Parts: sequence; C-alpha cells; structure tokens
Amino acid sequence: MQPSVGERRPQSFERVLSSMCTEPHPAASRAAERFIASNPGDPGTYDAVADLETEAVAALGELAGLPEAHGYVTSGGTEANVQAVHAARNLGNAGNSNLVAPESAHFSFSKAAELLGMELRTVPTDGDHRADVDAVAAAVDDDTALVVGVAGSTEYGRVDPIPELAAVAEDAGTRFHVDAAWGGFYLPFTDHEWDFADAAVDTLTVDPHKVGRAVVPAGGLLARDAATLDALAVETPYLETPSQASLTGTRSGAGVASAAAALAELWPAGYRAEYERAADLAAWFAGELSERGYRAVDPELPLVAVDLPDPLFDELREVGWRITRTGAGEARVVVMPHVSRERLEVFLGTLDRLAGTVGV
Ligand SMILES: *Cc1c(COP(=O)(O)O)cnc(C)c1O
Repeated sequence: MQPSVGERRPQSFERVLSSMCTEPHPAASRAAERFIASNPGDPGTYDAVADLETEAVAALGELAGLPEAHGYVTSGGTEANVQAVHAARNLGNAGNSNLVAPESAHFSFSKAAELLGMELRTVPTDGDHRADVDAVAAAVDDDTALVVGVAGSTEYGRVDPIPELAAVAEDAGTRFHVDAAWGGFYLPFTDHEWDFADAAVDTLTVDPHKVGRAVVPAGGLLARDAATLDALAVETPYLETPSQASLTGTRSGAGVASAAAALAELWPAGYRAEYERAADLAAWFAGELSERGYRAVDPELPLVAVDLPDPLFDELREVGWRITRTGAGEARVVVMPHVSRERLEVFLGTLDRLAGTVGV
C-alpha cells in the first residue's frame, strides 16, 4: 500500500542539479500560504492580491528596464511565451503566419505555434550556441509576426545578441520578444544588453518561480505597450472586471503573492548577491571539470554544460544525482540558489569515485 499523502516527502534539492526550480525564499513561502485561496484572475473581488500583482509587475518592469511595464504574473514561462506570440499574431495583419526563433529557443514556442496555427521557423545557432543574426534575418519575411531572442538559454545559458535581433525585427516591421524566463534575474547585474532599455523589445518573459525564488507557479509576461494586453483581452461577463488578458482563468494567488514578496525582499541587492555567488561557483565548477579532462562549455550565466562519458552519466543518475542532458548530449548543471559549493564538492567526489569504477 502507498503511504498516505501526509507521509510522502517532496524531492529534496540536495542532488537536484539540472532543474530550474529551487527552494523558495521564506518570505515567498509565507506570502503564498496567506494568499493561497485568493484569485488574481478576478481582481474586482480579490483586490488585495490584485494589488500585489500590480506591485510584482512594477518590480519586474524595473528589473527589465521598463518601470512602467504592462503585464501580468503568468503560470510560467510557457504561458508568457504563448501569450507573446498570441499578441503578435493578433496585432499584425492577416499575413502574420510565422515566427522566427533560434534553435536554442525553449520548446514552449513549439506549443505556441501549434496552438495558434502558425509556423515556427527555427534558425541554427552560431558555434557558441547564440542566435545567428544573419540567419534570423534571412528567415524573416512579409508574413513574420514575431522574432524571438533568448536571454539565458535553457540548455547553455547563452544570451543572444538582443539589440541586433531587435534591429532585424524593426527593419522587417515585425514585433520582437525576449525570453529571459531563467536569465532575467541575473542579467541586470551583468553588462549584457538584453532588456527594454537596451533595445526595441515589445514583450519579455521573466519568471519569478525560477531564479526569482517565488513559489511555483509564478511566471511573468511584460509588455512595452498597453495595446499588447488589449490584443489578448476577452470580455468577462460574470466577473467584476470587464476583461481578462491571461490565458488561464482562475490563477494562483499563492504564486502572485509570493512573487511580490520575493521581489520586495530581494530586488535588487539580494538578487545581485545571488548572481555573484552563482557566477563564481559556476566558474569554479567549470574549472574543476576541465582540470579533470571533461570538456565544459564556458559558463556565460551560471549554467555549466559538460561532456561526460555515457556510462559515467548513467552511474551518477543511478546513485541519485538529478541531472539531465542537452539535446546534443552534454550534462547540464544549473547553479540555482540551492546549489552550494558543498553540494558540488560532494558531486565531484562522487564523479571521481565513479570515473574510477566505470573506467573512463
Ligand atoms: C524554463 C524556461 C521556459 C519555460 O518556463 P516554464 O515556467 O517551465 O513554463 C521558457 N523559456 C526559457 C528560456 C526557460 O528557461
């Protein structure tokens, strides 16, 4: 017989190295618990959580170079990306039938294209896993609704040349979206050009439930203009408010309140400290792997992709390390807030021991 739900234990983060989820900030967890039954999808009735959402969007806007941003707290990066594509399709002319993205773009764009009946044109990346601007320009045509740039790719943590991609979109008269779902909480503390202040960005995804340390679910869609949200809005006859731009109806009050709480607590000093910690740790870890003879992709953001022999990767999983691979086969270690130096030292110790046993 299965143990009761109360006896089950959630996955411990101790050996979780490839996930973009992490331990929420304690202030986020407390806020989540208090607002667990509030519905931000009905702001007329649940006005306290609606106020928190307004504050969260303002803080995310500040982080992304647009203090007056429009937007909302989504169920995650997927919904934010889907809605960015959705708005682009609705705002253009009838020919808006394709979107152009680098092959490093998250699979949520495949969902968006499929749902919206559009063609997703993926363009090969350059030798260092970033969007190839000329190839993107060549793929854009009169029917392109949206160009996508990735600021912190899921597999390699790479940041595309955002201003150059924005210029391609502008020349073609299409909209431009930046997916910073994971990277957005690091990039304000780097010298990358990635946000609304750096380029003609129309919409941007940034997820509080990843590096932002909110509870799941809390993603973020930001837009430069109110027209973007208007293009998504439908009338809502039975609610106290007349229209709704979110894809989902009832939404998580816990997610919204926790995002507001985490941002209030951590933006900007707490996030800066975490970026510096994680960047140093990723550089150290990549160095340790290289010294052992494993080819590690130079970490641009705190994510290390490394070639490990198959038997070694399998053994590491076998003894409980939660690691995944990129499409090309490298193991990915995402240096999330729960990933400490001590845990990576234990991992390296295990790696050394197993490398001896499997004879690689
Ligand atoms: C994680 C991620 C997403 C998807 O976000 P979910 O919250 O899992 O829906 C989209 N884009 C990028 C770049 C991501 O890293």
